[in-house]
Amino acid sequence: MLSVSDSVIMNMSSVSRDSIDERELLDLWHQPLRLFRLANRLRQASCRDEVSFVINRNINFTNICVGSCKFCAFRSSYGYFLSESEILERVASAERIKATEICLQGGLAPEMVVEDYCEMLEAVHQNFPRMHLHAYSPMEVLYMSRNSGIDIEDALIQLKRSGLSSMPGTAAEILVDSVRRRICPEKLTTMEWCHVITTAHMMGIPSTSTMLYGHVESLEDRLKHFQILKRIQCQTHGFTEFVLLPFMAGNNSLGPLAKKPDILEHLKMHALSRVALYPLITNIQVSWTKLGRDMAGATLSWGVNDLGGTLMEENISRSAGSKEGQYLSPQEMEEIIVNHGRKAAQRNTLYELVRS
Ligand code: SF4
Repeated sequence: MLSVSDSVIMNMSSVSRDSIDERELLDLWHQPLRLFRLANRLRQASCRDEVSFVINRNINFTNICVGSCKFCAFRSSYGYFLSESEILERVASAERIKATEICLQGGLAPEMVVEDYCEMLEAVHQNFPRMHLHAYSPMEVLYMSRNSGIDIEDALIQLKRSGLSSMPGTAAEILVDSVRRRICPEKLTTMEWCHVITTAHMMGIPSTSTMLYGHVESLEDRLKHFQILKRIQCQTHGFTEFVLLPFMAGNNSLGPLAKKPDILEHLKMHALSRVALYPLITNIQVSWTKLGRDMAGATLSWGVNDLGGTLMEENISRSAGSKEGQYLSPQEMEEIIVNHGRKAAQRNTLYELVRS
């Protein structure tokens, strides 16, 4: 019998008839001005002139990991593991700047079971009950469920009971197994990623969606990735946003093999995401930590309507060579937005307006 996630992947006809087909996307890729105009028009139709951001804090609770992803510069043999009180201190500092979200993720530390992950959520939830807990990638959920000898659904039930409100849709990289075998052979497969995400959505746990681009994948691989996200969204409506994550080439073994996109390609990718995912995924987010604030601002004219989070702590891009800081204040976010002729809006994780 097919599981829910299998049927999402198989059900080709479930993608909205209003969405643009692959041939047209390929044509647009080679006509940047047409692509730019269309992305900007669709952004206007979906989100008007508002550009949102969220006040949040990233907490990477460990960099110890049994994984072997070739693009990773975060994993370390001299690893740290934050204690409960260190995690709570970080949440308290986030609350002081009026953060609404904590994003909790880490490496795959040996033998971590579902109870370990639940304990971290419970500690934060009990001490800061109003903080939205956005935590654990599909890889972490698969890892904890395997180590605990339980299925994905049981792991998610326990996490939700412990305070999990939503999940980062990271570990997606490129959802094409031939690419995954080259860049992260031990990571979960495309089918497994879809299974974790759709199970979470069906249980009322929304997630973001992401793509790691600019390494060894082709344009066609990126289009297949979009297609999978669209099929899932048609069925579950569980994606809150799509975030493009440009590959950072520093300090990892994939760097020398990567194609390294130029500025135009980065801008085109953001525009293509808006067009490819329209009208199913409304919010297209740029990563200011990876692209830098100037280029992040420029993407606002190429289909983007969200600047992401203030973060406070950013270890993953920095370890791969990002020169950006760890924190953008709400005022700096607003400045970038207003300087590009748009209206700033502070949102929460679920894209509800906090302040405009
Ligand atoms: S990307 Fe994540 S899972 Fe992969 S090696 Fe790095 S820390 Fe481990």
